[in-house]
Amino acid sequence: MRWLAGLAAVLALGAAPLPPQPQAVAPGVWLMPGGIVPQRQPDGNTVVFAGPRGLVVLDTGRHLWHRQAILDFAAARRSPIVAVVNSHWHLDHVSGNPDIKRAYPGLKVYASNAIDEALKGFLPRSAADGRKYLNDPSFPVATLEDLRADLATIENGQALRPDVVIDRSSVRTLAGLRLQVNLAPNAATDGDVWLYDPKSRVAAVGDLVTLPAAFLDTGCPQGWKTALDRIWATPFRIVIPGHGAPMTRDQFGVYRTAFGALVDCSISKREASACAADWAAAVKPLLGDDARALRQASGMTQYYVTDVLRAHGGKSLDCKAA
Ligand SMILES: [Zn+2]
Repeated sequence: MRWLAGLAAVLALGAAPLPPQPQAVAPGVWLMPGGIVPQRQPDGNTVVFAGPRGLVVLDTGRHLWHRQAILDFAAARRSPIVAVVNSHWHLDHVSGNPDIKRAYPGLKVYASNAIDEALKGFLPRSAADGRKYLNDPSFPVATLEDLRADLATIENGQALRPDVVIDRSSVRTLAGLRLQVNLAPNAATDGDVWLYDPKSRVAAVGDLVTLPAAFLDTGCPQGWKTALDRIWATPFRIVIPGHGAPMTRDQFGVYRTAFGALVDCSISKREASACAADWAAAVKPLLGDDARALRQASGMTQYYVTDVLRAHGGKSLDCKAA
């Protein structure tokens, strides 16, 4: 039921359908916001860094309109996309890879090798779940369209794999831009990648930061906590999460503290509902006046603590860490 668990969350959300509009975050850095359209699966955020020799694109979204917006942005700037970095292998972050590569055949995709395990485990399992609902007329047309598109993406899964495997953290020059390319092992997936640009002091961290809840579906809580500590140790000004708006240092600090408390609570004897209530209270300042987001923060977190973490000895089923 993995595909449907995500689906239920999507149906409960429902935001205005808007094509992603590039927002300047700092000189030479743009956010192309991912979104959630009612009855559809989400797109993750895309972050674009402009270098002297072209564009570096972190994450390529799920839907056709998201990847088209990335291509339109590059065309409007008359700047080629020379590197795609994937923060992690979830389909809301990598599905645009093949089309963007087709448009810029010289570009290289950088990611961890965690997708190799996912192509053998999580993704075919999720496809098998999804196929059961292909002919179910009770699902909205848009939902089935997303399901078919995800199945096609998984079918062609080898095309999502990186050209260059990130197997450690290091400084790399991409498009003539010096970036810290960081590997976070055993975090939101078995291998997350996050970028730090020392010039703009922007950290683009993928799903190591998500709201209203930490999406622990394939997560390893301890490694994830370590990753948040590593991010905190860099002198960033702005963090761009995998979903949602850029954060200040103070806001990221709130998230990091809440995450640490959640991990500690999940391995304690406390009720899952109490862990969830603590999380919701802690991240409330990050959610503004959004009462629905606050309810989701607690509802989703209770599900993650009970069904994802405690059901599998404190980590998700897909977490390979000891
Ligand atoms: Zn995501």
